[in-house]
Amino acid sequence: DIAREVLNIVVVGHVDHGKSTVIGRLLYDTKSLPEGAIDRVKRIAKEKGKPFEYAYLLDAFEEEQKQGITIDTTQLQFRTDKRDYVIIDAPGHKEFLKNMISGAASAEAALLIIDANEGIQEQSKRHGYILSLLGIQKAYVLVNKMDLIQYSEEKFNAIKQEMNEFLTSLHVYPLKYIPVSAFHGENITASSDKMPWYKGEPVLEAIDLFEKDKGLEGKPLRFPIQDVYKFDSRRIIAGRIEAGTLRTGDEILISPSNKVTKVKSIEYWVEKDKVDQISAGMSVGITVEDEFFNQRGEFISHTYDAPITSDTFKVSLFWMGKNDLVKNKEYKLKLATQEVECEIYAINKVIDATTLENLENASQAKTNDVAEVTIKTKREVCFDEFRNNQNTGRFVIVDGYDVCGGGIVTGLAQERQSVS
Ligand code: GDP
Repeated sequence: DIAREVLNIVVVGHVDHGKSTVIGRLLYDTKSLPEGAIDRVKRIAKEKGKPFEYAYLLDAFEEEQKQGITIDTTQLQFRTDKRDYVIIDAPGHKEFLKNMISGAASAEAALLIIDANEGIQEQSKRHGYILSLLGIQKAYVLVNKMDLIQYSEEKFNAIKQEMNEFLTSLHVYPLKYIPVSAFHGENITASSDKMPWYKGEPVLEAIDLFEKDKGLEGKPLRFPIQDVYKFDSRRIIAGRIEAGTLRTGDEILISPSNKVTKVKSIEYWVEKDKVDQISAGMSVGITVEDEFFNQRGEFISHTYDAPITSDTFKVSLFWMGKNDLVKNKEYKLKLATQEVECEIYAINKVIDATTLENLENASQAKTNDVAEVTIKTKREVCFDEFRNNQNTGRFVIVDGYDVCGGGIVTGLAQERQSVS
């Protein structure tokens, strides 16, 4: 049995524009729902005197998962002939932005839903902005509820044009705009005869055309240390390989402490067997030849491909704190397994995520603002620029106990570069 390709897809859009209905439809049409779910939902709707909603299917599905042994109740999956899809961030999930930006959910492709009747809303634009911030270039815009505008090609084109102008100004180039009626199943699985003017693929065919990025295995090795365990006389360094491939005997660098050693053994817990090679995505424990004092947060890489180590760097961040983001205040930065106190060294630009208006020389960022700032950490941390590595190029900021912002590393700070 050949391993099937998996693509993580996120569905975004203004509330009520039809995210749940689109997802419910996709699950229904691909027969990915639990046995009897649709009948049960129909019955419950009838009992309550409400019309049937595809969106209810998601509730039923989550309920089903909760009773099982599935750990992650927010993960919905469906499959096509080509591959498996994981829908991340179930609709209604309030933590949507937080998850997306913190990397708790890493979307490879996105469907942005716009209600044809209501048109483009602020939230639609904000979601577009976040896609660009996260570098998600694989996106389709679904213009939903086409039934409410009599499947009008003219109205569809007007929305397409307006959204396209906005998105291209952000350098997000949606590959396709698809007119759909999720509720009636038009242009979801099969081409709709209600919209013969649309010559493109229906949604399920279109998503199969997303090209998956080459895996992280081929990238420079990044193995952030999660923990160090003592076993007998051995010390086992545990963590998840975020990128690259590690082999027994490899010469490795431990940053930022700058120690060099060799991999003695790879202990692959899950299989309980020793292996000679491990790659991105695997959680493992390894032993090394020189037993230095290693600790959580440090990065293991190959000596020839080290991450950046610095205490000052530039980022784009999305702020969602109750309190404004300000300078001269202590926050906590979490990046991979590192946790370190930091402050905002400079606020270079604040952008209203809806209007994309720039505020130069702002002294704070408000909730829902996107800011370009320079961060100064109390000690050196390891990272990569987001464009080189998504897993080690993003971070969250914690204020007290709340995750209040997150973003991506865009580069080293100028003031820093001129010094070195
Ligand atoms: P969400 O908040 O984005 O997840 O939106 P929902 O999927 O819950 O949909 C909001 C409402 O719009 C529900 O009452 C749906 O039945 C309705 N809706 C969704 N898609 C369509 C559609 O294609 N046509 C029509 N007429 N209504 C739709």
